Amino acid sequence: MSASLASVSYIAATILFILSLGGLSNPETARRGNLYGIIGMAIAVLATIFGPRVTMAGIPWIVGTMVVGGAIGLYAARTVQMTQMPELVALMHSLVGLAACLVGYASYVDTSIQFTGAEKAIHEIEIYIGILIGAVTFSGSVIAFGKLSGKISGKPLLLPARHWINLVLLLLVIWYGREFVNAHSIAAGYLPLAVMTVIALLFGIHMVMAIGGADMPVVVSMLNSYSGWAAAATGFMLSNDLLIVTGALVGSSGAILSYIMCRAMNRNFISVIAGGFGTGGGTAPAAGAQPAGEVTPVSSIETAELLREAKSVIIVPGYGMAVAQAQHTVYEITKLLREKGVNVRFGIHPVAGRMPGHMNVLLAEAKVPYDIVLEMDELNDDFPATDVAMVIGANDIVNPSAQDDPGSPIAGMPVLEVWKAKTSIVMKRSMASGYAGVDNPLFYKDNNRMLFGDAKKMLDEVLVALKS
Ligand code: NDP
Repeated sequence: MSASLASVSYIAATILFILSLGGLSNPETARRGNLYGIIGMAIAVLATIFGPRVTMAGIPWIVGTMVVGGAIGLYAARTVQMTQMPELVALMHSLVGLAACLVGYASYVDTSIQFTGAEKAIHEIEIYIGILIGAVTFSGSVIAFGKLSGKISGKPLLLPARHWINLVLLLLVIWYGREFVNAHSIAAGYLPLAVMTVIALLFGIHMVMAIGGADMPVVVSMLNSYSGWAAAATGFMLSNDLLIVTGALVGSSGAILSYIMCRAMNRNFISVIAGGFGTGGGTAPAAGAQPAGEVTPVSSIETAELLREAKSVIIVPGYGMAVAQAQHTVYEITKLLREKGVNVRFGIHPVAGRMPGHMNVLLAEAKVPYDIVLEMDELNDDFPATDVAMVIGANDIVNPSAQDDPGSPIAGMPVLEVWKAKTSIVMKRSMASGYAGVDNPLFYKDNNRMLFGDAKKMLDEVLVALKS
């Protein structure tokens, strides 16, 4: 393939990637967005393999590694549970970081192109920054994977003077960068490069270890952004325009997503990075702790009664619906109620579940029509006119203390005001707290009912009762 045909293919792939991102911003166009991305990536891979920079002898290597990598990816994608998605994504980001490091070292030892003067300095800075971002992304993502999968405690590791430690590490990186660029020979550059790599790896570990469980999904999105910049840095090292553009697209969209998530959690981006918030997974109230009030349990039959008598129902799904895989039963109930003339809608919090769009994906999978799935802002004012707000495995996103208790760790986070409905029903297995590890005063409100049990099992019972 000629160089100009390869360039045209790269431009076509770039356009498809931008269309893909646009498509993914809406559930109705997400499938199309995915298709654009697949076609764009196929074009990019083919144009690279058959482009002017790959020799015939290299093709079997590329195809062989693609088959192995593709098979592992296919297996992972087929077996991963929806709730394990964030940890899989973290693992994928670590590979992008590792690739940036390896390409950086390979570019450095590759003497087939001799750079001189300013070009040499620019090439070396590209390598240094590429390996730096790659190493931080790699070790940070491995720790994020460990925390999300529960292999490492979600508790933030707060070393004394940790900000000073980070500052010293940064100064060392700058110092060794100078040493690297001023090195008189390739061999002399290895030491500063290796020291910086170790520092960057330690920095990545320290940065993510300091972040509490509740902020981990933001961190995954931030590492997604880093992995994009690592790919862009790799593109500079390899003089590959498509990789630069694609990396920048991933880098900037990851940064925007992190910002949106921070806003939805009312967290300051800097304070997320500075770490120390959140305790990890849900926790039961400490033994001997005073219950914050009385709760009113209901049975599935009573829940069915309340739903049958309602004219308007808002369903608020959360992480527990994903765990229980209750979305199909939720839709069965929705269909039944709608056939009886009940106005049923879904209220989706921007950070419900464990990743943005988590609930939308599950509801789309169960074929819930998009027009009844609304964003928090679209229906938060409607709760006072709603008969039943049914909370399925959600906790933090419906916690009134975010509004009422300035001392709460989730103070200021926008929440779905389910307690303003005539009756709210919370479906969960116990009194355990949610992801942020805070108690929820909603449970003790007079108009709230608790339906204890696994969401799928309870909803199956509600469905049977509704049908009878
Ligand atoms: P939460 O983690 O607050 O609560 C989920 C609840 O589901 C738990 O209290 C649990 O209670 C219940 N549950 C678990 N399994 C089941 C089951 N099988 N059946 C019934 N209930 C079950 O989830 P939310 O969706 O309300 O909130 C999301 C949290 O994640 C927020 O704190 C948010 O800030 C955080 N987060 C989310 C991000 C995202 O992108 N989505 C990003 C960053 C953070 P029990 O154990 O008693 O059953």
